[in-house]
Amino acid sequence: MKPILPGAAIGILGSGQLGRMFTIAARRMGYRVHTFSPDEDTPTGQVADVEVVGAYDDLDAVRAFASRVSAVTFEFENVPAPTAEAAASCAPVRPDGSVLHITQQRIREKSFLAEAGLPHVPFRTVNSKDDMDAALRDLGCPAVLKSAAFGYDGKGQCMIRSRDGAAAAWDTVGARECVLEAFVDFEREISVVAARGEDGEFVHYRAVHNHHCRHILDVSVAPASIPEKLEREAAEIAHAVLTKLGVVGVLCTEFFVTRDGRLLINELAPRPHNSGHLTIDACVTSQFEQQLRAVCGLPLGSPGQLRPAAMANLLGDLWEAGEPDWAAALQDRQVKLHLYGKLPARPGRKMGHLTVLDEDAEGARARILAARRALTA
Ligand code: AMP
Repeated sequence: MKPILPGAAIGILGSGQLGRMFTIAARRMGYRVHTFSPDEDTPTGQVADVEVVGAYDDLDAVRAFASRVSAVTFEFENVPAPTAEAAASCAPVRPDGSVLHITQQRIREKSFLAEAGLPHVPFRTVNSKDDMDAALRDLGCPAVLKSAAFGYDGKGQCMIRSRDGAAAAWDTVGARECVLEAFVDFEREISVVAARGEDGEFVHYRAVHNHHCRHILDVSVAPASIPEKLEREAAEIAHAVLTKLGVVGVLCTEFFVTRDGRLLINELAPRPHNSGHLTIDACVTSQFEQQLRAVCGLPLGSPGQLRPAAMANLLGDLWEAGEPDWAAALQDRQVKLHLYGKLPARPGRKMGHLTVLDEDAEGARARILAARRALTA
């Protein structure tokens, strides 16, 4: 395929912060960006050339949107399969709709991992309360019940601590198709953001150590201080995932590191990921520019990291007592502020993030936490 060159328009399905950061990277390189979503004045729309407001199931509108751009990508992985197909009838869609189809449903995603022989958390498919008993017998307690249709940030999931809690968990998750996962008493969570070009070229960033709070990513630190061998293994697994899925674009592989030093894939995200936001300030090529390069058939950029870095998410909770004190956080001159243009600030809503570089990863983590504390001190 001939590369899609600067000046061309790229379409993005979805309009949140991932689309916004993709758009900023694309416009810096001279591309135009059109965004499509049901909302108006969105984080992506505010910085895009064209904001199209339409329903994902309005396939005529999707086709009209795709016919005005040179390629389509997405930032919202729950784009329905018919929407991706409609777009693909008018422009190349990257990654392909089949990647979305697999990764937007837990049973399909886990079955893919199992068939590909990739290490994953042991699971059982559960379709009824009766299935739960057998699954719990196989996997043991504690276990985690998750709805098959993707929730995110821990939504649609429930921990089961004893067999007695099974029925209540089934009702909590919504009595629908689920997976039951063994509970992993992990040592830490890491992720590997990687990109693959149409010709199979592959690059990956350093492994990121992720800290969650209430199931939502809170702080990411890169490089993760894990043994070199484990980091290499994580990158090899990520390579296999992107290759076997045939991804053209960016994909994040999230792992649990078990206490005995094994890697288990928790989840795949077929797009730039929150744990890769620090690549904007810390790496030669950000994950968003990387997505653009892959989608456009350009050579992938160096993923090289300039210095250790940490990122802290800014959730709407920080606005509880009014506007956060931005100047206080920026007293540390190394701290970078990213805000997504969202209103209103609701508890749990991702409003922005802070990044800092430092001599070492732990120093970066301490600094970013101090900067975030200063916002509401
Ligand atoms: P998820 O939405 O599946 O990524 O889950 C969100 C978070 O819940 C993960 O990042 C973990 O911190 C925790 N979690 C999910 N599944 C498990 C599991 N099987 N064992 C232990 N913790 C889990």
